[in-house]
Amino acid sequence: MGNKRKINLNTLPLIQNKQHHKTHTNFHFRPTGIKIVGGENDKQECKECHKILLLTAFTTHTPRSDGAYYLRKICRECHTIIYREQVAARKNAPPRPDRCDCCHKDMKLEVDHIHGTTKVRGWICRNCNSGTGALGDTLEGVLQAAIYLEHDIEKIIETLHKVYGEIFARINEKKF
Ligand SMILES: [Zn+2]
Ligand SMILES: [Zn+2]
Repeated sequence: MGNKRKINLNTLPLIQNKQHHKTHTNFHFRPTGIKIVGGENDKQECKECHKILLLTAFTTHTPRSDGAYYLRKICRECHTIIYREQVAARKNAPPRPDRCDCCHKDMKLEVDHIHGTTKVRGWICRNCNSGTGALGDTLEGVLQAAIYLEHDIEKIIETLHKVYGEIFARINEKKF
């Protein structure tokens, strides 16, 4: 058992690698009996308050194939605050549009609120919500990704104008 952990997975043939993955050795149990991914004394950083906390400070998210739960990336305390903000934001949200306010596709939409407030930013699809969220919900974060994808600043600006024009052309088309 102890030796197995030291094996470099990258050098193993694919099938063996998969088998190892199925054994799912890293988990522990909470007093409530819930199986959790990771060690009992492991810590992780909350993506919201940036505190490094024990896994007990995080609530469960989705289960892995062996039934062990992955934990949320934000701590229990931050999650509660954001959840309350979301509930309040949803109450004063404008009517749901036909399309995502971000990608303008016809998708299932959810209310996006500005963290730390109960202000609604818009109605967006899950992809756009998790995508912009992962980039920090900031212009800097989105631009960093743009620069990563395209080093040529002229091309970025050119594309920005093109996309901007297309979005408003689509909006106006719908209005008239
Ligand atoms: Zn937190
Ligand atoms: Zn979208």
